[in-house]
Amino acid sequence: MEDTSNKAGNTRREVLKFGAYALGALGAVGLVAGSAEAQVAKKAAQSAVGYQGSPNGDKQCGKCQHFQAPSSCRVVDGTVSANGYCKIFSKKG
Ligand code: SF4
Repeated sequence: MEDTSNKAGNTRREVLKFGAYALGALGAVGLVAGSAEAQVAKKAAQSAVGYQGSPNGDKQCGKCQHFQAPSSCRVVDGTVSANGYCKIFSKKG
């Protein structure tokens, strides 16, 4: 009798554990998808910020705080050259 109730208890616990695990996994997938969408939505189009593939004097992406080596930008969409420049350039601190 006790063996049966223990088995049932274990099975219930395992089901609960699996359920919590499944919910956690779904939550993680949702968070990853949500943050990826948020990042895409936040970035400006290169045309909107006047991006060009060459520097503007001593201002260039490689010296901007938004630049992410080797070739992207936290706030501007698409491939960005370290030698490029746009209107929202912000010098690294
Ligand atoms: S100048 Fe700065 S903000 Fe503009 S594209 Fe280059 S890294 Fe991004």
